[in-house]
Amino acid sequence: MKSTKKFGINTTCVHIGEVKDEQFKGAVSPIYPSTSYAFDGVDIKRYPRYFNTPNQEMLHKKIAVLEHTEDALIFSSGMAAISAALFAFLQNGDHVIVQQVIYGGTFNFMVNEFEKFGIEYSFTESDKIEDFLPLLRPNTKVMYIETPSNPLLGITDMKAIADLSKQHQIITMIDNTFASPINQNPADFGIDIVLHSATKYMGGHSDISAGAIAASKEHIAKIWETAINYGGNLSDQTVWLLERSMKTLNLRVKEQTKNAQIMAEYLEKSEHIDAVYYPGLPSHPQYEIAKKQMKGFGAMLSFELKSHIDAMQFQRNLQLIKPSMSLAGLESTTVSPVQTTHALLSEQERLERGIKNGLIRFSVGIEEPEDLIADIELAIEKTLKK
Ligand SMILES: *Cc1c(COP(=O)(O)O)cnc(C)c1O
Repeated sequence: MKSTKKFGINTTCVHIGEVKDEQFKGAVSPIYPSTSYAFDGVDIKRYPRYFNTPNQEMLHKKIAVLEHTEDALIFSSGMAAISAALFAFLQNGDHVIVQQVIYGGTFNFMVNEFEKFGIEYSFTESDKIEDFLPLLRPNTKVMYIETPSNPLLGITDMKAIADLSKQHQIITMIDNTFASPINQNPADFGIDIVLHSATKYMGGHSDISAGAIAASKEHIAKIWETAINYGGNLSDQTVWLLERSMKTLNLRVKEQTKNAQIMAEYLEKSEHIDAVYYPGLPSHPQYEIAKKQMKGFGAMLSFELKSHIDAMQFQRNLQLIKPSMSLAGLESTTVSPVQTTHALLSEQERLERGIKNGLIRFSVGIEEPEDLIADIELAIEKTLKK
């Protein structure tokens, strides 16, 4: 299908980036698993690590159209995409400004790898634009943000960051995993490089590891030159699975987003819960910014159990909702940041970041909200009895 005409979102999810089955006229894309292609008499020298097999090329189109960018690249994981993007634009002596709260793996990557290559970095005090400005240096090359962020669903003003960066010729990068292209298109606000862990909403069934970058043709060409050296391409079998998953991306994420709003409103009223963090609640401190830049408020939220309920026991008592390390599947899952993502920090460091012992991050799935509410109520009841 041509990507020049604008289709509706579901038509785009299903049809853009199909590989045509010219030979048998099958309904779905054939898989081209070849790692060896002809070099003679062809326009393109194809090779999996060049990110240009037929299945890769077609999925790039789907992602680019969904993210409102000219081009895209798919990787074997979110971190393969994030590291390729950063190393494409940074070199010895450069400086990066990074939002304080970002995905733990990205934080780890920066703290453990940048110094080896002489790359300087500064973390902001918060996700407010005023905290980025004082960190600017003459050698600042990249601003890196994540919104909504993990685990407190903080919102960063994308347009403010893009405007500030443009004044200083700085490249902006965003981790758009939590929102997915269905709920947020950072390119519309002037952000240069859009990053995804496709292991999350794009894959959506908790069975694929993948990553993606969406950007202008020029920026993708620059990232490609670095990416072929690091070799983080995705196998064509998995590219095909990801294409299949993405046909239902809008259906899944819309339903999950609708459920998350219902769950957030329910949790906010519960007598056993101290606070709910969800950008779709008017009580969220950056609700106005979220309304301006998000098409939907997403399916991730966090809540704090009151101190008389043990968070670990509560999660063990859930029957339907699974305590789980990852997120964004069709099934609802919870995680305790204190036990997992932020376990290496001291209690003091956690509290400085607003992460209390009773905090639960909740990835809302497609189950009916009544069933999820019943599961939570039963688990609270059981936990209180003990
Ligand atoms: C999971 C995740 C990543 C890393 O992706 P992988 O596919 O695990 O490499 C990056 N950012 C966010 C927000 C994530 O949730």
